[in-house]
Amino acid sequence: MPRAPPPAPAPYGDWLATVFDAWWDERRLRTRVRLFQEIAALLLGAPSRAEAVGLSPMAAVVVETDGAIEQVDSLKSAYAGAAETGLDVFRNSFDEALRHPGVAARQLGERALAAECRGCPVGRVCGGGNYVHRYAPGTGFRHPSVYCADLERLVRHIARRLARTARGTTPDN
Ligand code: SF4
Repeated sequence: MPRAPPPAPAPYGDWLATVFDAWWDERRLRTRVRLFQEIAALLLGAPSRAEAVGLSPMAAVVVETDGAIEQVDSLKSAYAGAAETGLDVFRNSFDEALRHPGVAARQLGERALAAECRGCPVGRVCGGGNYVHRYAPGTGFRHPSVYCADLERLVRHIARRLARTARGTTPDN
């Protein structure tokens, strides 16, 4: 029988899993870590509320000081002009902004994901990761996150820790 390929390196996921353990094993909640809280909530069936994970629609726009309506600032790290819509508050309504293709794409949930993400066992929780991390020049945003292996590692780790906690066991047993 052929051997399964070795897991992809996920140094960022491993590091986050270690940080999660330190956070989770605190006897009381001293620090809120939104990424960990969101993943745990999604694993327990809650709806997503964050941009970094899950499948919740993103319905925010930015109004610049000159009145330009733009998509969220994080998109600017994908490529120059990525957040621009060509709309402004003097000539356009926010309903028009919601119909802008870039904004509308953020409302599609699972339908906006790459095929790999739609078939991914942790896809409902990961949600393809942060939208801006899915961008590839020439082909856009319909790709798994550049942190795919790290996200899968972290989601599976948190799922294991939640299951152990539910069973009342520790990481070593
Ligand atoms: S980015 Fe990777 S881990 Fe996340 S849903 Fe897509 S395939 Fe799954």
